[in-house]
Amino acid sequence: MIQNQTTEFAALTDSWDREHLWHPYTSTIDPLPTYKVASAHGNRLVLADGRELIDGMSSWWCAIHGYNHPELNEAAAAQISHMSHVMFGGLTHEPAVELGKRLLSVAPASMHNIFYADSGSVSVEVALKMAIQAAVSKSGSHKKTNFATIRSGYHGDTWNAMSVCDPVTGMHSAFGEALPVRYFLPQPRSRFDDKWNPVDIAPMRDLFEKHADNIAALILEPIVQGAGGMWFYHPQYLREARRLCDEYGIYLIFDEIATGFWRTGKFFACEHAGVEPDIMTIGKGLTAGYLTSAAVLTTKDVADTISRGEAGMMMHGPTFMGNPLACAIGVASFDMLARQDMGARIAHLHERIKSALQPARELTITADVRTIGTIGVIETRTPVDVGVFQQECVRRGVWIRPFGKNVYIMPPYVTPDEDIDLLCREMIEILASGKWI
Ligand code: PMP
Repeated sequence: MIQNQTTEFAALTDSWDREHLWHPYTSTIDPLPTYKVASAHGNRLVLADGRELIDGMSSWWCAIHGYNHPELNEAAAAQISHMSHVMFGGLTHEPAVELGKRLLSVAPASMHNIFYADSGSVSVEVALKMAIQAAVSKSGSHKKTNFATIRSGYHGDTWNAMSVCDPVTGMHSAFGEALPVRYFLPQPRSRFDDKWNPVDIAPMRDLFEKHADNIAALILEPIVQGAGGMWFYHPQYLREARRLCDEYGIYLIFDEIATGFWRTGKFFACEHAGVEPDIMTIGKGLTAGYLTSAAVLTTKDVADTISRGEAGMMMHGPTFMGNPLACAIGVASFDMLARQDMGARIAHLHERIKSALQPARELTITADVRTIGTIGVIETRTPVDVGVFQQECVRRGVWIRPFGKNVYIMPPYVTPDEDIDLLCREMIEILASGKWI
């Protein structure tokens, strides 16, 4: 139960918002509290009543350089004085070309063609459509149109993206027969930093053996399963998946929307395994949290196979595709990353998070503690009440938003060491206090 919400946080609540604005994943009858933000800078969110919160979320993985960064602001202002947007059909522009060049310079070597999309979920839709168009064109069979994935995944909230999210946490039952039915493999249980157990991959071979004729692609979040459960699995799973996809003529899609831009300690998480996909989706950090934008990258083979197919082209073309303002910010963000030794920076943050979370292992409520790159997770034995937990966070001056049994941080890369320590300490203290039920 959230007590004294209205008095203690009176200046932060907005009754009109509460009555009319639909915030993500909350009820209209009994909405979770929302806190009014006035501004943000560096790794701080400034609330309407003046108090500052240390941000542990990077606004859902995307504000990699922190907020209100002068260099990104300048790139946005410079671009807006030229043009904010023009259509991408029949037109192109320098920001799209420059961002594309930078993307290919860091992407797996086989990536060759880029399709810009307007959000992560839309880029997943595009990737799935790409796989179907290429699979049908290559096989000549309109049967090869389904997808395989693993349980506890998350790929976005649009229709087909949702169909490859975990059926339980993605509440597939609520949508009945309207939602396409996909092939779900068990979640690999071999931990990222532990021994590989070959048992993990066996179900994939069985599935492909029986249903390869129907499957266009396997879609995976490489290494880190994010919003479906914050689970980090073994790189060998990706190597085995690549081998099986090749053997059975199934495309491999990597959803790097959450994992890209150094979040896991490599530019892209697939580098942990040394495996290249046929299609990859990129979003979130792409525009450093400034604007919604995403990209789908693929091989020349996939792109040309689509172009030789029935439609003769990729059947997609959103209004805000390749938005110049988003691309210009993306270019500036890329250049900021390129100027730093990001490998060393993320390794440093990782060590700090890992050691600051050590005491969490002693709590009776803790089921598991895991870290990778700049992600630190305390998995609890029972689910956390997000509203109560967040109220306690705001009271203590930190911003952390758990879900289910996952209390976690993924702070902006500019976060000072002492703020990393504080975020971890507050997470642990709140859990230890029991004020999260
Ligand atoms: N894929 C993954 C792995 C994600 O984490 C997300 C967003 N949390 C998405 C897709 C969807 O992106 P968006 O919210 O921009 O539509």
